[in-house]
Amino acid sequence: MGVEQNVVAWRRHLHRHPEVSFHEHETSGWIADKLEGFSLAVERPTETSVLARLRTGRPGPTIALRADIDALPIHEESGVAFASERPGAMHACGHDGHTAMLLGAASQLVARDLPGGEVRFIFQHGEELAPGGARDMVAAGVMEGVDFIYGCHLWTPLEYGKVAAMPGPFMAAADFFKLTVTGRGGHAGLPHTAVDTIACAAELVGSLQHIVSRRLDPLHPAVVTVGSLHAGDAPNVIPGEAVLTGTTRSFDPEVRGRIPMLIEEIARGVCAAHGANFELDFQFGYKPVVNEARATELVREVIDPAQLVEIEPIMGGDDFSAFQAEAPGCYAFVGAGGAYPHHHPRFVIDERALATGTQLHVDVALRALEVFA
Ligand SMILES: [Zn+2]
Ligand SMILES: [Zn+2]
Repeated sequence: MGVEQNVVAWRRHLHRHPEVSFHEHETSGWIADKLEGFSLAVERPTETSVLARLRTGRPGPTIALRADIDALPIHEESGVAFASERPGAMHACGHDGHTAMLLGAASQLVARDLPGGEVRFIFQHGEELAPGGARDMVAAGVMEGVDFIYGCHLWTPLEYGKVAAMPGPFMAAADFFKLTVTGRGGHAGLPHTAVDTIACAAELVGSLQHIVSRRLDPLHPAVVTVGSLHAGDAPNVIPGEAVLTGTTRSFDPEVRGRIPMLIEEIARGVCAAHGANFELDFQFGYKPVVNEARATELVREVIDPAQLVEIEPIMGGDDFSAFQAEAPGCYAFVGAGGAYPHHHPRFVIDERALATGTQLHVDVALRALEVFA
């Protein structure tokens, strides 16, 4: 089988056997076996991540390529023949493809005559769950001595055949919050004897939207999304607790720093108005993905000009930023078609994109070995 068929077969194997963030035990073992099959020296920086080094033995730069390997807690409804065999877990973001592409690139690069230096393959666990696996890998030393880091995301809003890699801010900082509203519950028919945490939480959902629409400078993008709201079990009971969780996105560090204070301020005001109490747990997640100019230039140089497109930065986040904090790097989007968005139970990719992504890894690594020599 050629590399392209291998990559498709590997991706389908991974797609059948998804493992959610920080539980990638089989996945990481399987990746390590494949890499050892290419005669690469394999390390396990954390329990469910994998690192492989291709050392030339000659002096030169260290070029790192990264793929994330985790799946999502989603029940697959795509209907593909190689659908998830694990109920409640699905590769609905394309990380199965990322893993297969990087394995394909590794299998090709071991067969190449490299000028010197090292190519390092980083298979990262836990991208989908803040604070993310990247920081654990950085702490384990995987970025030591790295001169350049590259990674890519299969991206279905972008059609197959297109690739985006732009310098500057590319993906937003992604932070997370949990807001717990408490009050004296009681009889639904006697609301005046209770504190209605549901009514208070509902008001909070609306009021939190004022952060972006009224409190922050409209020229600095931000998102506040309440993604879950849980309260109550019965139609005739006012519950004593309502819990909201959500995520916030931004690029500007000052905006990012103000958001938790604004959530706190609004929660204090709304809860005080209704006699409720609250507790805010705010977690800073991922820094924004910001592509370094020179690193991005070399990636753009290896992309066919007919494929290269310019897109707007997106408010999605990725902890690739943790690697970029250690070395100049570029994160690219590889167009993968598809009718449903990432994180959707019917998410599918155009598998032809796997060949594009694999080749790009190889070309970027070879070019970076020259540029950083
Ligand atoms: Zn995702
Ligand atoms: Zn993803």
